[in-house]
Amino acid sequence: MAEDLMKKIVSLCKRRGIIFQSSEIYGGLQSCWDYGPLGVELKNNVKRLWWDAVVKERDDVVGVDTSIIMHPRVWEASGHIKKFSDPMVDCKECKQRFRAEDIEGGVCPECGGELTEARNFNLMFKTFMGALEDESAVVYLRPETCQSIFVNFQNIVNSTRQKIPFGIAQIGKSFRNEITPRNFTFRSREFEQMELEYFVREAESPKWYDYWVEQRMKWYRDIGFKEANLRLREHEERELAFYAKRCVDIEYRFPFLDGGFGELEGIAERGTYDLSQQMEHSGADLRYLDKETNERFIPAVVETSGGVDRTILALICDAYHEEEVRGEKRVLLKLNPEIAPVKVVVLPLSKKPELCEPARKIERMLRPHFETFYDETQSIGRRYRRMDEVGTPYAVTYDFDSINDKQVTVRDRDTLKQVRLPIDNLVAFIKDLFEKGSWE
Ligand code: ATP
Repeated sequence: MAEDLMKKIVSLCKRRGIIFQSSEIYGGLQSCWDYGPLGVELKNNVKRLWWDAVVKERDDVVGVDTSIIMHPRVWEASGHIKKFSDPMVDCKECKQRFRAEDIEGGVCPECGGELTEARNFNLMFKTFMGALEDESAVVYLRPETCQSIFVNFQNIVNSTRQKIPFGIAQIGKSFRNEITPRNFTFRSREFEQMELEYFVREAESPKWYDYWVEQRMKWYRDIGFKEANLRLREHEERELAFYAKRCVDIEYRFPFLDGGFGELEGIAERGTYDLSQQMEHSGADLRYLDKETNERFIPAVVETSGGVDRTILALICDAYHEEEVRGEKRVLLKLNPEIAPVKVVVLPLSKKPELCEPARKIERMLRPHFETFYDETQSIGRRYRRMDEVGTPYAVTYDFDSINDKQVTVRDRDTLKQVRLPIDNLVAFIKDLFEKGSWE
């Protein structure tokens, strides 16, 4: 059942240009994914809503966009070169590789074959910088976006004059050579993260941690997740890194996890560990100077670290809905209109030029205000269904009566309610729907 649902979702994503497998014509590259024309809009909407909530609407958070390749010593300082590895086992029969923690019965989950002892496997992608391909030229693709925030801490304090408590945020690509990438985009080798490092006085860290857990949960609710499919899971002490005081995952009930929950975002009280490590390895002074008290200290960090791709996958799973309307199956993505890749589709009732021309004109009128789409091919019923399955909240239909009465019909994706109104009122009417967030 869950497998069927995932098959339908993967197929919908491909068929409608949301997500394709990377390099598909060469048989595909496992665990890398491409976002198509509708997928990129969806992705931009998710990133914009995160950026608005975490950076733009606040005066205590600034953003950065840093390089993917950094000095290799950054990863020595962060501990990634030594410790960023998953114990893994290989099947001696079918040669597949698995994370040791995913093995339940001591034998290969694919073929039942015998497994090797667990070995460590560094998850960072290595490459060479410059002309020589020797040890001195080794660099890594970043496995997380946050280290460049710590490394730039002093630059940002000096250039922005932000005062503690304040945050630095970034959205960007990260790379991990995951041993068992699976479940569509859930575990990919190239993915995008949305991270915030919020710098505070150590004594205030617990307060800010609680604050950010609440803020981040609110964000997932605001972008439309069903409450019942979200939960917070506090890490037990044995799961915590030695420097972390508390950590909680915001999790989503993914269908492919058999009703179980999977991580969307981790929030942690990381103490002064990250800045101290980078300070120690670089020799730079990353302490914060409080100009009022003249006190110098290493701030503690509360981190929120979420995944763009996992959020998108969860949003699609959450929004996927099938129903029967007058004996016919209807598939729809009940996406929050703010997230939907296309907001308004304009449809002439038939392909007759006297309908198409004015309908195109209406689409051009709406285009500066909303993401729009114009479609004149196939029957009106099929065109409605095509827009329903990519989550387009509103459809505007121009029919033969429209020629004389200069009115059009607006249809709501979820309720199928229809309203007829003058073309001149259309922009204001749809804007109002977005403001109110509902049809009522
Ligand atoms: P997991 O335990 O699932 O491997 P993690 O705890 O290693 O995740 P973090 O290092 O906390 O993940 O990364 C923060 C966020 O980045 C995750 O919550 C997730 O949304 C995203 N993320 C991490 N690894 C991947 C991946 N391989 N593919 C897609 N998203 C990922």
